[in-house]
Amino acid sequence: MDATSVDIAYAVGKFRNAVPMTKSIKCTVAENALDYLLLAGEQAQDGSERLLKHALATLADGIELLLKARLEAHDWSLLFKDVDKAERAKFESGDFQSVTFDQSLKRLKNICGVDFDHSGFPILESLRQLRNRIRHFAVEVKSAQAQSIIANAYSFAIDFVATEITPNTTDDLEYEVNDLRKTLSTFKEFVAQRMKDIEAKLKSQTYSQHVQCPACLQDTLYAEGEKVTCAFCNFEADGESAAYAWADQNYPQSLKDSLIEPVVEECPECASMACVPAGHMKGASYTHVCLSCGETGDFQHCLRCNSLCPTDNVGDMCDSCREHIISGWD
Ligand SMILES: [Zn+2]
Ligand SMILES: [Zn+2]
Ligand SMILES: [Zn+2]
Repeated sequence: MDATSVDIAYAVGKFRNAVPMTKSIKCTVAENALDYLLLAGEQAQDGSERLLKHALATLADGIELLLKARLEAHDWSLLFKDVDKAERAKFESGDFQSVTFDQSLKRLKNICGVDFDHSGFPILESLRQLRNRIRHFAVEVKSAQAQSIIANAYSFAIDFVATEITPNTTDDLEYEVNDLRKTLSTFKEFVAQRMKDIEAKLKSQTYSQHVQCPACLQDTLYAEGEKVTCAFCNFEADGESAAYAWADQNYPQSLKDSLIEPVVEECPECASMACVPAGHMKGASYTHVCLSCGETGDFQHCLRCNSLCPTDNVGDMCDSCREHIISGWD
């Protein structure tokens, strides 16, 4: 039995004691999920480094349970890692291996028709990665990073309950969601205050375009001189690793897809593998940003070799293809 199946068993058991069996059990998992999210908020507000780490792990558990609540609303057997082994008695006792985070996302998309847009992906992906790191490696969590991720996760949870849980169950989660909204506002205040504190710094960063930070998810990551820094959470990384982290969070792809249509491409200016199509972001002026040299532009693909061309290219071709063709004319 894994931790989340215990939680589901707990939720089912809690329900059974409280209300008649004829009523839906679906939302007790969701209630439990929201309870975890609120606990994460309390842990983060404590502020110690130890509890910040726990806050993010608890947050990931809460979000995972919320996804499971949606799967359960569709069909409880979807909570089994192996659906062929689904049995009602096992489900109610919690004696089963439950669906993984990745499986949940896949089933929600392919079976329940849940469409995670660009606002949902980064928070889900960063929690998944953080949880794995917290469980298996040492991880350093900063207060600004934790509070920002919690604010993002709460916003996601409030929207997810409204669009995916409430319409698919008969239960009322308004009480829990209200608590979540209240706690969210304290984190939002923190984020707003921090944004004010770093405003001058952000304004002075004019060479490149800000991109979403893979650590805190604020649009405050800035590239210059082969590295990125985040004014919000002080995250730092070399441009190439930052580009891959950004791509993993914003465009999760299979290995095959990443070979056919890679998200991270070679920068036409500095040739680092660090150019990302971050232009879908609000207020962005250019489609592409290189997270190594900071160059921005509406880069197009070369008609001949498909690599990215600088903005001032001639004939929709990269410099080397154009030189190659010109040398053929001689
Ligand atoms: Zn950051
Ligand atoms: Zn570059
Ligand atoms: Zn070319």
